[in-house]
Amino acid sequence: MIEINHLEKKFGEQRILKDISLSIPAHQVVAVIGPSGSGKSTFLRCINGLETITSGSISVDGHVIDASVGKKEQQKEIYAIRQKAGMVFQQFNLYPHKTVIENVMEALLVVKKMKKEKAYSIAANLLEKVGLSDKKDVYPSQLSGGQQQRVAIARALAMEPKLMLFDEPTSALDPELVGDVLKVMKQLAEDGMTMIIVTHEMNFARNVADRILFMADGIIVEDAKPESFFHQPETERAKQFLRKVT
Ligand code: ADP
Ligand code: MG
Repeated sequence: MIEINHLEKKFGEQRILKDISLSIPAHQVVAVIGPSGSGKSTFLRCINGLETITSGSISVDGHVIDASVGKKEQQKEIYAIRQKAGMVFQQFNLYPHKTVIENVMEALLVVKKMKKEKAYSIAANLLEKVGLSDKKDVYPSQLSGGQQQRVAIARALAMEPKLMLFDEPTSALDPELVGDVLKVMKQLAEDGMTMIIVTHEMNFARNVADRILFMADGIIVEDAKPESFFHQPETERAKQFLRKVT
């Protein structure tokens, strides 16, 4: 599903991602963990074309972003990748003046040019899936952070993505609201969605992910199964990190 070859990302002279190569098969659930500032968000943003890459290439379901190709030629590929990759951020960014169901319908109406009735029924199904059927007609400000994040997940799912990217989806939430969001993500994983999740929730990473990428200073320092990463990290860097967070 994803092939990354010698990806490098610089901001100015600073190398933020350094020669990252890896592939992710369909249906795999990958947790990306590591210290703040190590390049995790930049990595996700490169994958769906929110950042231009400095060198190397990224292929998502057959669409290729290649740094050696002109920016203009890349636009079509980036657009195709964005259709396939749903992204959920720490901040939910819902439209405040639209109701919950209107938020979920928006891309279906605007991007997919779908009829209103059809978009409504798809959106209603997705809201049921994230446990918010009873909140269809309220505005985001009337919801808790955890509920808003579940709307954001439903909104991303509306585009029928082949891949979901999550950037610390629970970091802005009060602790008692984290569980409901993780539950929705766990269900998605069980349904076979390909997912890359940047998270500080170590229990979730350990129990739900198929694979851990431990990132530090723009490098994938460890790439391992959760059991082996959490029980026997190979590098001093990872041991240090785990001592701090667990
Ligand atoms: P993480 O998500 O692991 O905390 P980030 O990917 O957000 O790390 O950031 C990695 C590094 O890249 C940080 O040093 C950050 O300051 C830098 N950085 C991120 N975005 C930009 C930007 N738009 N311009 C310049 N530097 C940036
Ligand atoms: Mg980040």
